[in-house]
Amino acid sequence: MVTMEKIVSLAKRRGFVYPACEIYGGLANAYSYGPYGVELKNNIKKLWWKTFVHRREDMVGIDGPILLHPKLWEVSGHTTGFNDAMVDCKKCNKRFRADHLVSDVVGEDLEGELEKMDKVLKEKKVECPDCGASDWTNARNFNMMFKTEMNGVDGDVYLRPETAGAIFVDFKNIIDSMRVKPPFGIAQIGKAFRNEIVAGNFIFRTREFEQMEIEYFIDPETKWESLFEEWLKLQEEFAMALGAKKKDMRRYEHPKEKLSHYSKKTIDTEYKFPFGFSELYGLAHRGDFDLSQHSKASGHKLEYFNVEKNKRYIPHVLEPTFGLDRSLLVSLVSAYNEEEIKGGKRIVMKFPKEIAPIQIAVFPLLRNKPELVKKAKEIYNDLKNNFVCEFDDNGNIGKRYRRQDEIGTLYCLTIDFDSLEKDDLTIRDRDTMKQERVKIKELTDYLINKLERK
Ligand code: ATP
Repeated sequence: MVTMEKIVSLAKRRGFVYPACEIYGGLANAYSYGPYGVELKNNIKKLWWKTFVHRREDMVGIDGPILLHPKLWEVSGHTTGFNDAMVDCKKCNKRFRADHLVSDVVGEDLEGELEKMDKVLKEKKVECPDCGASDWTNARNFNMMFKTEMNGVDGDVYLRPETAGAIFVDFKNIIDSMRVKPPFGIAQIGKAFRNEIVAGNFIFRTREFEQMEIEYFIDPETKWESLFEEWLKLQEEFAMALGAKKKDMRRYEHPKEKLSHYSKKTIDTEYKFPFGFSELYGLAHRGDFDLSQHSKASGHKLEYFNVEKNKRYIPHVLEPTFGLDRSLLVSLVSAYNEEEIKGGKRIVMKFPKEIAPIQIAVFPLLRNKPELVKKAKEIYNDLKNNFVCEFDDNGNIGKRYRRQDEIGTLYCLTIDFDSLEKDDLTIRDRDTMKQERVKIKELTDYLINKLERK
């Protein structure tokens, strides 16, 4: 069974994810992506961009700044309303999310209702998860935006708490410079920062993370329900392309009374992480809230003019949002396999082909035979022009397979003594462990065929 302990340990041991600043004792649940983690992350981003930008005619991409005009956050409501409820244990002084403590007990989401939270904490004698006491401060709002300063700007500037803001303020530029017409979407991948009250569960909740977001603009008269359903399916399919199984996903619809006044519907896609079902992606109908608020505040008309119909309108927007770090966690959790094999157990990361960090490893059978090493190096030098490859001559073949299986390398190529005479090599498939001999002159075509998206 896959547990978080196993994932965290493999991630560190094999260079996927390290605790950041470990030599200084770490920094508040911050992580670095190691050499394989960054390959995996880049592959997920590439797959997302290919799926939602390159393969669609109705999407364009942008890359906006992290530091945006402070007015944006005022108008979007983040400056006053981007709050979580926090509460402190008076005995051990540990800080918690009040809504999380309460929902664990009453099974109800009391987000935004501080007094009700206080009541539950008191009446149900909710215990501190850390010291077991039941003596709480009142719950109070905590704004999660990171503040900073910028030369030449008066007042506070914020690190963006979501990427979406940058899309709305670029709407006019996109309309003016591109040939887009609703329905169309603007996509963006980038860092977001939230001063979470409690971070944790490895890379699930951190204070610096990446999002892949889309604002999909539609004519307000469009029948949005079917489009909404389509986006939900696309979000689930994307998770499945990372390895998630359908049975491990479910939908959570935000109750009507919890929705902001402008939102018609919000549904989260939840995934069964080892610590339980939790939000992976979100999809919200945001009406024309953002564009109309920014129109009013900036004095610029953020509209679309339909020439054929001689109709001018502020588009409505569907917002599918994807957490990149949570996507990567899904890929790690769903790739993890322990298999009984002759001579023991193997751990193998069965990443889907499109996201496996390393596609091919090349081995000389023995590292102390220069003729084998020379030929293996030649093959590696050639293949690395077209594939993501690794050369490995460390330890015996069994040990090298074990390492590559834990990285999730798709194919291991071994040059042995027969290779020198017959100009061929063995290819071992990660999932079946079957080995085949292939002629070196046919190798590139063979691998292209294997790695092709079917
Ligand atoms: P949660 O309820 O888990 O705090 P949220 O509803 O606040 O999430 P959104 O504002 O909808 O999240 O953000 C969009 C996506 O960004 C989420 O679906 C998630 O994948 C990702 N995300 C949000 N907060 C974090 C975080 N602190 N660390 C990593 N990913 C995050």
